[in-house]
Amino acid sequence: MAESDAARRRHYLTALGIEEWLPRATAGVPGVPAVPVPPASAPAWEQLSAEVARCTRCDLHRTRTRAVLGVGDRHAQWLVVGEAPGAEEDRQGEPFVGRAGQLLDAMLRAIGLARGHNVYIANILKSRPPGNRDPDPAEVAACLPYLERQIELIRPRLILAVGRIAMQNLLGTQATLGRMRGQVFEFGVLKTALVVTYHPAYLLRKPEDKRKTWEDLKFARGVFERLA
Ligand code: URA
Repeated sequence: MAESDAARRRHYLTALGIEEWLPRATAGVPGVPAVPVPPASAPAWEQLSAEVARCTRCDLHRTRTRAVLGVGDRHAQWLVVGEAPGAEEDRQGEPFVGRAGQLLDAMLRAIGLARGHNVYIANILKSRPPGNRDPDPAEVAACLPYLERQIELIRPRLILAVGRIAMQNLLGTQATLGRMRGQVFEFGVLKTALVVTYHPAYLLRKPEDKRKTWEDLKFARGVFERLA
């Protein structure tokens, strides 16, 4: 890792309030083993993106400003899944761009991932629920097929579900997030490995749980490396 990268990582770890941890593999992107890139599937992405932009499958289309498909490397081996766009995401059309997004970026950088580079970020819902209320089951049922198509296109090695809503809807459980930490689950027809951790918005309210989040991120990193 270049000196400036190392310094930046230390900075993010400090921002997270956690001690430094050095990844093992350093080929290409720091901490990420080099892997073959799958063939591009641009038309399928264009189709999906257009469908989501004009989607009326649930009432959220009436109140949203923009649908938020996702952002990042479409060949990423990591997929982060959050809950739904908030006010800022609804305005900008990109997931996790508010304060929680800044913390998410810091969390990802701490394990060698960078938005737009080697991770794709998406949500369970593509449209903002008014007042940031929890998604209702009908909205999730209407929207989840879009995420499933994204997963088929990206074919990530690991899904990191952030927060209770993402975890419960992806795993079809009512369990608490605390109970699901530190385990590897499988998602969907591709049986993609899935690990959970706290939502960055929750961590902004409860910073004392950042240390547990760091444990989860190290766990996820280890799982990812073992899946290689
Ligand atoms: N919270 C989420 O779960 N997703 C976003 O895109 C923004 C905030």
